[in-house]
Amino acid sequence: MMKTKIDVGRVGNARGGSVEIEIEMEDYGKSRKRLSICGNVWNARHSDIESGGQILDHFTFSPGRVFYYGEPVVVKPPMTVTILKRIVDVWKRWHLNDMHAECEHQEKLKSSMLEKHGEGFFYASNIDGIWSEPEFSACSVCGYRYGTAWTYRELPSDVVAFVNMMSRFQFNF
Ligand SMILES: [Zn+2]
Repeated sequence: MMKTKIDVGRVGNARGGSVEIEIEMEDYGKSRKRLSICGNVWNARHSDIESGGQILDHFTFSPGRVFYYGEPVVVKPPMTVTILKRIVDVWKRWHLNDMHAECEHQEKLKSSMLEKHGEGFFYASNIDGIWSEPEFSACSVCGYRYGTAWTYRELPSDVVAFVNMMSRFQFNF
């Protein structure tokens, strides 16, 4: 198992709250790897966490810069904006790659439904609503019914290599 805690930098200014990202990749089953990523943003005194967990959507990027909730982040070397951007991209795409409620053929439809109806549509409480969509009721390619298992997405080798490389950013508390 590989677990890395990264000191990304600070929000606002050099005295602002620190930003940490934790990346975990573990082997399980027959040659499978599970990736999970979470983050913490501390208050300036480092006495309490202001936001934590799946905070990835609060990062925004513009060339050479990164923001958290619109506040500039002062990235701490050796971390760079480019690497942080890649981490967030990997996070978005591969976090909990072993826990997809949809099969890979349903992914496109799921993203468009998310855009149209928001996350609430995919709450378990709306399972009848989900299944009223024929393609979710039974995938036309593989027959899978949405939400009846956790389906797995294999991590591409470049993602595995990138995640392994992240250990060089590991810092000690
Ligand atoms: Zn399918």
